[in-house]
Amino acid sequence: MRRYLIAGNWKMNTTRQTGVALAGELASAAPKEEAGVEVLACPPYPYLIPVGEKLAGSAVRLGAQDAYFEAPGAFTGEIAVEMLKDCGCQYVILGHSERRHVMGETDATINRKVRAVISGGLTAVLCVGELLSERQAGQTEAVLDRQMDGGYSGISESDAASIVIAYEPVWAIGTGVTATPEQAESAHEHLRKWIARRYNTAFSEKVRILYGGSVKPDNAESLLGQPNVDGALVGGASLKAATFVPIIEAARKLAAGG
Ligand code: PEP
Repeated sequence: MRRYLIAGNWKMNTTRQTGVALAGELASAAPKEEAGVEVLACPPYPYLIPVGEKLAGSAVRLGAQDAYFEAPGAFTGEIAVEMLKDCGCQYVILGHSERRHVMGETDATINRKVRAVISGGLTAVLCVGELLSERQAGQTEAVLDRQMDGGYSGISESDAASIVIAYEPVWAIGTGVTATPEQAESAHEHLRKWIARRYNTAFSEKVRILYGGSVKPDNAESLLGQPNVDGALVGGASLKAATFVPIIEAARKLAAGG
């Protein structure tokens, strides 16, 4: 059985003080390892160390929101994977829709980042998802295939074990509009079939596919209850323990058998 991953993407939010306070609340909500649910917090770069210190001793893992693909050197403004590891990160979000559509990242750039993260010994959370116009034009699966082809280019099965996929329809991110459980399940099933075709069915059954896009306490259980939804990548609702912890609890309830 796949273990749920409930991940908070804090984006460019919190101060040092509010971020550390939130980390303290998360550490209390997930104090020890659980068989069914894993929890992840991804604060902004400057707060990785103080947030990591606050999470220390709890089961909440630390992740970054991006990474550069080169080794440390003359790349002004960038952050190397080994620096993130040095700060205690275990996960790195890559190819988030804001990186793709605001910063203009291509599938080729994202692929270089995915490879760098895996060879640095961390786990990539590879985000894929279609625009509203692409969904309306019936291109959702073609867009997902293109992003998967690009993101996984040149990656062996053993390296692919260090990738978690996050399906995040762009029209649902930060909009309050959530994909229906059926829409999410259909995209997740498509992504799992892509993995099975590219690698094999047994491997595809082990890959975790998270849903992201306006996940909230009141829709978490119905989304997480879908057979191919293995967790959530949560933006807005991850900024307050009052809205993030109930999402963890929904996963716990489902992991315990509903
Ligand atoms: C995200 O940024 O990954 C996200 C899903 O945001 P929100 O939950 O706010 O839609």
